[in-house]
Amino acid sequence: MPFKPSSKPGTNNSPVLEGLRVYKFHGIEFSVNGKEAIGDCPFCGKEQKFSVNTETSQYQCWAGSCKVSGNSTSFLKSFWEHCREETTNAEYDRLAEESGFLQPHAARAFGVVMSTLKNQWLIPGWNKDARLTGLYRYGRLKDNKDRWFSKLLVCPGTGHHLFNLQNYDTTKPIVDLCEGWRDGIAWYESLTLGTRAGKPFINDRSVLAVPGTNSFKPEWSKFFAGKTVNILFDNDHPVTNKDKTLEGAGLQGVKKVASILSSAPTPPETINFVAWNGSADQYSLDLPDSTDVRDYLKG
Ligand SMILES: [Zn+2]
Repeated sequence: MPFKPSSKPGTNNSPVLEGLRVYKFHGIEFSVNGKEAIGDCPFCGKEQKFSVNTETSQYQCWAGSCKVSGNSTSFLKSFWEHCREETTNAEYDRLAEESGFLQPHAARAFGVVMSTLKNQWLIPGWNKDARLTGLYRYGRLKDNKDRWFSKLLVCPGTGHHLFNLQNYDTTKPIVDLCEGWRDGIAWYESLTLGTRAGKPFINDRSVLAVPGTNSFKPEWSKFFAGKTVNILFDNDHPVTNKDKTLEGAGLQGVKKVASILSSAPTPPETINFVAWNGSADQYSLDLPDSTDVRDYLKG
């Protein structure tokens, strides 16, 4: 049901309301008046024309030339599409330079876009039905010593998602699973550029990525059913704390993914994982802790 904004939106900024958190995460600021929140439209830029029902999360822009509407889930896809149109080649050049990608095109193909509201990269996440229902921010936070660092931030209430499912091809027999969006891009790019017998490696394999080693969900198993799966998680050294030694996050993640996939209704044909430096284990102490696919490709 459409609803009309009041003629005089309230100016009191209430605490984050449940129905607004997806929009606020992506940088829209609201004034809230009862069930209604009003902000500037992220699509057309018109001030105080974008209204959200704080109970249903439905949004609508009341600017005559815009008239966008939807719910907080469809907002993510629409906002991603809007940002994709606005992201410039110069921005992709900068990301490639910073991240060690060979071509600016690689991040674009992966669906990464620059937010028009926050000057931060957005990474689209796909659900088990291959729909874009997640949109992560590569945001900046401060550590406990007040130093800035960059971190992948999950959009509140949306849970974890797979990366690069838009380039998944069910007919290809191999799936490579990377850790993190930037390793996913670098690996996807290298398989697109590298060839064997004149054919790009990507011809017989898909590249997917998870946000982190511990984020794999059983409902994603269908994308790996009957495939040869290669897990390319980082070379994380074991961690010793008070006489207790814990396996590194990479190895823990490999075991978790392998366990989920092998108990799926249709498990993969084979599950392999990268054994760093030819080690008998997943990790190698001869390589630095946290060595990843991008380090390997930089060689
Ligand atoms: Zn608008």
